[in-house]
Amino acid sequence: MKSIKFVYLFEEAEAIDKKLLGGKGAGLAEMTRMGLPVPPGFTVTTEACLHFYENKKRLPKSLMEEVGVNLKKVEEKTGKKLGSAQNPLFFSVRSGAAISMPGMMDTILNLGLNDKTLEGLIKITSDGRFAYDAYRRFIQLFGKIALGVEEKEFDQILNQTKEKTGAKEDTDLDGDHLKDICKQYLGLVKKRTGTPFPEDPMVQLRLAIEAVFRSWMGKRAMDYRKEFNITPEMANGTAVNVCTMVFGNMGFDSATGVAFTRDPGTGENILYGEYLVNAQGEDVVAGIRTPKPIQEMKKEMPKIYREMERTRKILEEHFHEVQDFEFTVEKGTLYILQTRNGKMNAQAIVRTSKEMVSEKLINREKAVLRLKPQELEQLLHKRIDPNFKGKPVAVGLAASPGAASGKAVFDADEAERVGKLGHKVILVREETKPEDIHGFFASQGILTTRGGKTSHAAVVARGMGKPCVSGCEELRIDPKGREAIIKNVNIKEGEFITIDGSRGEVYLGEVPTVDPEINKDLLTLLRWADEIRTLGVRANADTSEGAVKARQLGAEGIGLCRTERMFNAANRLPVVREMILAGSKEKRAEAIAELLPMQRSDFKEIFRAMAGLPVTIRLLDPPLHEFLPSAEELAEELRKLKEIDTAFSTMENISDAMKFLDPSFRESLGLLDHVVTDIVEIKEKRLDKKLIRKQHDTLRKVKEMMEVNPMLGHRGVRLGITYPEIYKMQIQAILEAAAELIKEGLDIQPEIMVPQVCTAQELKWVYQLVLKVQKEAEKQYRIRIPFKFGTMIEVVRACMRAGRLAEVADFFSFGTNDLTQATFSFSREDAENKFLPLYNQRKILQDNPFEVLDVKGVGRLMMIAIEWGRRTKPDLKIGICGEHGGHPESVEFSHSIGLSYVSCSAPRLPIARLAAAHAKLKEKEKKPLEKYDPDVFGIPSV
Ligand code: ADP
Ligand code: MG
Ligand code: MG
Repeated sequence: MKSIKFVYLFEEAEAIDKKLLGGKGAGLAEMTRMGLPVPPGFTVTTEACLHFYENKKRLPKSLMEEVGVNLKKVEEKTGKKLGSAQNPLFFSVRSGAAISMPGMMDTILNLGLNDKTLEGLIKITSDGRFAYDAYRRFIQLFGKIALGVEEKEFDQILNQTKEKTGAKEDTDLDGDHLKDICKQYLGLVKKRTGTPFPEDPMVQLRLAIEAVFRSWMGKRAMDYRKEFNITPEMANGTAVNVCTMVFGNMGFDSATGVAFTRDPGTGENILYGEYLVNAQGEDVVAGIRTPKPIQEMKKEMPKIYREMERTRKILEEHFHEVQDFEFTVEKGTLYILQTRNGKMNAQAIVRTSKEMVSEKLINREKAVLRLKPQELEQLLHKRIDPNFKGKPVAVGLAASPGAASGKAVFDADEAERVGKLGHKVILVREETKPEDIHGFFASQGILTTRGGKTSHAAVVARGMGKPCVSGCEELRIDPKGREAIIKNVNIKEGEFITIDGSRGEVYLGEVPTVDPEINKDLLTLLRWADEIRTLGVRANADTSEGAVKARQLGAEGIGLCRTERMFNAANRLPVVREMILAGSKEKRAEAIAELLPMQRSDFKEIFRAMAGLPVTIRLLDPPLHEFLPSAEELAEELRKLKEIDTAFSTMENISDAMKFLDPSFRESLGLLDHVVTDIVEIKEKRLDKKLIRKQHDTLRKVKEMMEVNPMLGHRGVRLGITYPEIYKMQIQAILEAAAELIKEGLDIQPEIMVPQVCTAQELKWVYQLVLKVQKEAEKQYRIRIPFKFGTMIEVVRACMRAGRLAEVADFFSFGTNDLTQATFSFSREDAENKFLPLYNQRKILQDNPFEVLDVKGVGRLMMIAIEWGRRTKPDLKIGICGEHGGHPESVEFSHSIGLSYVSCSAPRLPIARLAAAHAKLKEKEKKPLEKYDPDVFGIPSV
């Protein structure tokens, strides 16, 4: 068997392969080759880790031999020797997988210490305290990680000694105390493992390597990979980095810390970080001492600070990315111990992207790719004011982005009650259920103590665009006492709290928030995205204000304008009702004639706002009953009317009756007599009877119109065909509005879209109507009125008949909300309220298909429709106007199946623009479409 190379010196790793060396190993190798001061060492590969697991958790046979060979080289380079009493070498043994998993796996420091090397260390440093401190840290870490002795047993010993000696902090312990602790630690290890603590450094090294490998399958690491969906393709096994120890705790010319090459909070181009003088790295992490801002190093260690500045430049010029690096200063010498790409918030990513392009560190494409559409979302929501310095009282899961403040209430009914009084409310529950939905409506945000990012609360809140923190387990709710308890803080019902659903944080009181802002840097970045993308981006907008806003946010047209929204305005609804309930053709015509100018002026304003760009207007879509009062409401009103009617009859006689009973009332009856006269008048005019009759009529009509399943009933084009006057009026309003503006010299591009179409015959019928209206309008205005004509594709049959539909249609627009309902045979409301959360939890469905486009089912139908549609009409314009249009993954899918544009709500436009650019840039990486369906994808020929 050809032996595999399992060990690479840092300077030796030629092709820097993160998968093989892990992120940390690759970084150390790369920095070594760049000439940065990395302590010498070597990396044991992830491949060795995989062998370890294939081989019953035993190291590959040749491994320790290979380690020995490389150890020699490190010894030569450092002039020190592992296990030597005169000049001992010490190592850190550090894990590192291809994907960084901060804090999930273990690091052992000071390896190589034993009774003999300890003496050497004391001699070299002339600092017994330091040496014993290093030793006790090593025994503890090694004992815990490699030998499985419980940490708390070590802590017990430490604490007992502290108590005995009156030491408050670890630093109050002197050398003799620490020496004593070491002795006790060694005794503890022997007692628990049955054998003495291993003295031989090579044995220590072997055990440490094995321990790091084992930690890969530790619960912590496995949970982390599961939570963040780290698959074996992304990271398989951990590497082990064996790195010469350098000591930041060798006096006041020593230090340790962590730095960023730029400020990860703001993106400002300055060295950013923290350090501690005379300390070891773990002190910074453990929070035992409070570190100082790196800027103080300028005065305290000016030479090192200059080197840090130089390092910052070198790292960025090499990695072309902001770096997050660890460093240690040993007796005035700087060492770099780790580097990786810095994690930044969205704001910082935007600023650094823009500035790094100006500095020629990266190109525009890279700049655009650095900002993930999901991260951009952070910037588009309300956030906690970045100047706010307070700390959260609890942290849960970031389940739905945005920040919100309100009075804490503990059930949905109370939320509704308090909300109706005009107060802001945060609904706080252990978990939410479908019957809490009214509480969601009344709340600014939702906070739950249980449940993950796919819990009911999370899914519903995201659907409503409300902030949500879920799974906040530190919080306990006492429903009887009507309070919530976090640690030792009690939050009484009605007290203000603030949640930040982008970070999962909970704050006490009303924390200041800032509205989303699109700053200049972001605008630049979006402009670059526009230059890259080939997919069009339009907005869904129903009003001229919406259109103006959409245009500002970069919309290249309106992909969906819903005319029914205009029908709901308070001054229109009565006319709309009249139109619907009209008993005769003439009556209906009257109502419609009243609506025409209103719609015409609506369209005019929208067209004007969008001059030069296409505007797709959808003809009336929802079932008519949506505009009518419900039968229950009507029946209730009718009942009241009848009661009044009966009351009137008795009241006519009331004053006579009273006079009869007691003549002394005669004096005080003047007012009543007046009322009675009025009542008689009402009765004579039969006002009450008329009202009752009218109400009866309405009720009867409403009942007539009632449908068992209105969403599948008399709506959309079906309605247009049965009540042609309505569609005719809308078409006329569209074309006349266009005509009037064209006369003003504007470039108007109306697109008339028909909803709910399932057969080409429907579309042809409406098309004839449009032609007829166009002819009349052109004659009236004496100009040509251009228009495009198209159909929604939101019915399964329409997908199947796309070839025929394209004979009539200039464009298709996928209505993926309805198409998703139709494909799954789910009604959205019922699904989201009743079973989807559970489906997501159980992984029966990965996502909510109403949020994340189901590419395997709905997407496949779309592909068929596109294929067949374009066979008939190669230049067929095809868009998507469901809510999915603004979802990054759906945008990517839309791009790859060849859609012409996506249309989304105005606030999501920046996300769609960015996602479309990403889709274009990522196109090269993947084979088209295969990603979306593992089955071979064949489209039957027509
Ligand atoms: P993590 O992956 O959790 O960042 P590391 O392997 O980076 O763990 O080790 C944790 C800390 O241990 C480092 O931040 C550093 O301060 C310290 N450390 C690791 N290796 C060395 C070394 N060779 N010399 C000095 N300190 C080290
Ligand atoms: Mg580290
Ligand atoms: Mg629809």
